[in-house]
Amino acid sequence: MSNFVDLHCHSTASDGTLSPRQVVRLTKESNLSALSLTDHDTIAGIADAADEAKKLGIDFLPGIEISCQYPRPGTMHLLGYGIDPDSKVLREMTQKLIGGRDERNAKVVEALQKQGVAISMSEVEDAAHGEVVGRPHIAQVLMRKGYVNTVKQAFDKYLGQTGSAYFDKEQLTSRGAIEMIRAAGGIPVLAHPVQLRKENFAQLETEVKNLVDFGLGGIEVIHSDHRKATIAELEELAKRYNLLPTGGSDFHGSNKPHIAMGMAGTRRIPRKYFDAIVSSLHSQRQAQSN
Ligand code: AMP
Ligand code: ZN
Ligand code: FE
Ligand code: FE
Repeated sequence: MSNFVDLHCHSTASDGTLSPRQVVRLTKESNLSALSLTDHDTIAGIADAADEAKKLGIDFLPGIEISCQYPRPGTMHLLGYGIDPDSKVLREMTQKLIGGRDERNAKVVEALQKQGVAISMSEVEDAAHGEVVGRPHIAQVLMRKGYVNTVKQAFDKYLGQTGSAYFDKEQLTSRGAIEMIRAAGGIPVLAHPVQLRKENFAQLETEVKNLVDFGLGGIEVIHSDHRKATIAELEELAKRYNLLPTGGSDFHGSNKPHIAMGMAGTRRIPRKYFDAIVSSLHSQRQAQSN
């Protein structure tokens, strides 16, 4: 069995370009033994992915990635591992988050139109083929129509925080997201901590401590955006606060062409991260049923 896994991937259920089943097939082809699918604000891809994983002998952990309120220029995302796809709290919350996205996306499209860009909401929805419509789908339309050449250009010029058509979407607080993931039986994990854009280690540690008080259970140590020195710091934080270290590529298919499944830069993600999450979920469930 392969000693490597990927615990952070997106499918067409959110803003990836491969279907959940295709993501699982690629997991197999990439010689990984386990996968967590972590689409933004939705678990719509989980059932297909779990089914395909079973067929192909890939160990599968249901996941989700939730954006939280956080001051600019940073962003805070929380991953939820082992969430129960039948959880009512989770279903209601994801519907609400998708509603917030729809409002935001309409504002973005309107702003683009006012700036003379010929784009419609139905073109964006066609690019998304699903319920969760994200900025990468808007970027696809802008590329197809020749307004930009790359997804990055679309974010720099229009869609990113300093772009000319940027709008916030309604988001949960970090506390709210952590509580929701816990209520759905999952383990909340701080995704790609570099994206918080803290100025130094002490500031990062303060933020992490705060999240631990709310119920954080893990921290993403290995990620495509993390350099070697960052990984060492995050390992240290994980130990200090008794957090599960996790890792993933943040694969998005051709929406992020530089990211390959199972690879975080030149690093791979060790199987032991997956095993520790699964074992923690087991003990959690045992404790609850006693
Ligand atoms: P949304 O969920 O609609 O707010 O869009 C978030 C998605 O856009 C995530 O997949 C991000 O990784 C991606 N994203 C954010 N900023 C950029 C950027 N500057 N270049 C490319 N993708 C980005
Ligand atoms: Zn994404
Ligand atoms: Fe993220
Ligand atoms: Fe992600």
